[in-house]
Amino acid sequence: METNTITVFKGDGIGPEITDAVLAILDAAGADLDYEIFRVGAAEYEENGALIPEEGFASFEKTHVLLKSPITTPLGTGFRSLNVTLRKKYDLYANMRPAKSNAAVKTPFERVDIVMFRENTEDLYAGVEEKIDENTAHSIKIITRKCSERIVRSAFDYAVKNKRKKVTCVHKANIMKLSDGLFRDVFYEISREYPGIEAEDKIVDNVAMQLVMHPETFDVIVTENLYGDILSDLTSGLIGGLGLLPSSNMGTDFAMFEAVHGSAPDIAGKGIANPTAFLWSACMMLEHLGKQEISAKIRRAVDEVLKDGTILTPDLGGCAGTEAYTKAIIERL
Ligand code: ATP
Repeated sequence: METNTITVFKGDGIGPEITDAVLAILDAAGADLDYEIFRVGAAEYEENGALIPEEGFASFEKTHVLLKSPITTPLGTGFRSLNVTLRKKYDLYANMRPAKSNAAVKTPFERVDIVMFRENTEDLYAGVEEKIDENTAHSIKIITRKCSERIVRSAFDYAVKNKRKKVTCVHKANIMKLSDGLFRDVFYEISREYPGIEAEDKIVDNVAMQLVMHPETFDVIVTENLYGDILSDLTSGLIGGLGLLPSSNMGTDFAMFEAVHGSAPDIAGKGIANPTAFLWSACMMLEHLGKQEISAKIRRAVDEVLKDGTILTPDLGGCAGTEAYTKAIIERL
């Protein structure tokens, strides 16, 4: 990847605060990036009638790399989730969410190191819903071989590249025998191409329990859209909360990087949001751009600040604000 220009979407709620923090750290670390920054979300809609300005889409289509802060989808009919829209429009099919224990963040769980691959474009998120009558609504779950194959391959390719040992397929094929059954069958077919990696499958409810009882037994997980959404919030809880879970959304041509958490309207504007998940998402972006050293430098600085433990945001038990935390990271750079 040669590009040094990236598209940035400043969203709603805590979005603008954590975007400012992250861009300041990227600059201080010498990431040497040019930003095309767009306001997106509720404020943009109220002023200009669109949640994302046309120029924002055009910029992403030019740079192919998007750093996106959280956006609130307005409630009510007529608004399709912006996240779902972006994932579908640019076919960002592989959502990767790494959850790793950090020695500096105290939780009841140690040695968590789980990388979740969530299929991002179909399942119940396909948006095929209909109202049958006043008291009945249908939502159609779509699972295809094509989409299952590519997400399963992403998980196994990652496992090989990163020397991981096992990939677990999570499903509910005992009940949804055709749709989840297809996903599981495709998983085992593809797994045969990767003889060096152990392949196993587990039912989603069992996984929810096992993740809390024995999280250290999981390595790479591959799953459908809805299960991945729910279970990755669970894994964020294992490592200290939503403020610490980054993600990438990769397609064949486009890549989008975002924190797993939402726009946190309850703490917006208070200056106490934790920018770490978004910063680690930016680190994944730097790695995608071939800037491994800059990413490692930022990760080291964050680790030091977390380990030092004196300047932490309230979600991690501290009393520092976003600005002080950002400044502490920049000083460590
Ligand atoms: P969405 O539906 O968009 O996921 P949500 O309201 O369900 O949004 P979040 O916005 O992720 O969920 O917030 C869930 C909780 O986690 C809130 O109490 C919020 O304050 C907290 N939270 C989320 N992100 C952060 C963060 N970066 N720093 C501190 N607290 C956060």
